[in-house]
Amino acid sequence: MTTCIAYGVHEANTPLEPLRIERRDLRADDVAIDIDYCGVCHSDMHYVHNDWNSTRFPCVPGHEIVGRVSAVGSAVNRYRVGEVVAVGCMVDSCQQCEACEDHQEPHCTQGMTPTYNGLDRLSGEVTRGGYAQHIVVRERFVLRVPPALDPRFTGPLLCAGITVWAPMREHAVKAGTRLAVVGLGGLGRMAVKLAVALGAQVTVITTSPGKADDALALGAHHVLLSTDAQAMKGAASSFDLVFDTIPRSHNVNPYLMLLARNGTLVLVGALEPLEPIHGALLAINNRKIAGSLIGGLEQTQELLDFCAEHQVLPNCEMIGIQDINLAFTRMHNNDVKYRFVIDMASLKGVELS
Ligand code: NAP
Ligand code: ZN
Repeated sequence: MTTCIAYGVHEANTPLEPLRIERRDLRADDVAIDIDYCGVCHSDMHYVHNDWNSTRFPCVPGHEIVGRVSAVGSAVNRYRVGEVVAVGCMVDSCQQCEACEDHQEPHCTQGMTPTYNGLDRLSGEVTRGGYAQHIVVRERFVLRVPPALDPRFTGPLLCAGITVWAPMREHAVKAGTRLAVVGLGGLGRMAVKLAVALGAQVTVITTSPGKADDALALGAHHVLLSTDAQAMKGAASSFDLVFDTIPRSHNVNPYLMLLARNGTLVLVGALEPLEPIHGALLAINNRKIAGSLIGGLEQTQELLDFCAEHQVLPNCEMIGIQDINLAFTRMHNNDVKYRFVIDMASLKGVELS
């Protein structure tokens, strides 16, 4: 067992603070990683605030992890010390069920092990995430960062990126697909960039008038203000797909209305009860509602390779770990321009009080 400095909380609604955590000794198929960067996801804040009443304290968030291999177990053959690697939202699954065999590890019938707030399948210890100096992860759940991908901008692909990439593949987004992205936050920005790279016609639907220029700069073709009832009415029945990234309970009906015949609204944001859905809005145009949960390992590697090849990089705002509480406050107030990425070099010299 080794120990390292991390940032986390001992209870809900307290500021994140430095704490010392343990990492297990390497098992034969484990990879030890020195963490260089970790993206900040809205889910991290949900867990720290115990929004889903499921947080195991102390909680160390972080599931957009990029670093370098520092040691490998005796049976590891895919990675060498010094290689740049990444870890996303999962660190284990049963590897035997139909879902795992189908490369759909998030849907493992025994439950996948999340990178933080999960229970290790062998020891039962609570998993702790990437707001830390290092981490130990089963080889199979470690991803390769292609040399052409800048590690500083790779983190957000591992959750925000794959969460929108998986439904793009599932719903066959391609040249000409009319896609609306609701919410220009971490997931929304990635959705715009990736869909544009796939040739789709992308419209951003936002509550923030100030984000219009930004949406267009990301490559979006149109911007709609969701508070502009007239504009929303004018866009009725005009999209093949709507990706809804809104992070809390809301009324889905205004976005359902935007779907053309046989169109699908994919919910990737709010993982909580929604306001009632109007049945007639679903029936008209044969509309569908779907969900999507992160994505499998194979598809995440595909995304990293795609982004390296096409140089699709998330826009990031690099912060020191000391700024994490301010970053959470800004995320809570919807005051985030680009996805925050923590430069873990800032952990050096952090003292425990
Ligand atoms: P984020 O960066 O905070 O972005 C969310 C965006 O939604 C905001 O930028 C804002 O965009 C819009 N928004 C916020 N509050 C709103 C409201 N009350 N009504 C309408 N729009 C609102 O969050 P994120 O990191 O993209 O994460 C989004 C959600 O996805 C979180 O709840 C997270 O837990 C969830 N998530 C799900 C999965 C999955 O597997 N399904 C994976 C990762 C994250 P505008 O200013 O443009 O309106
Ligand atoms: Zn996330």
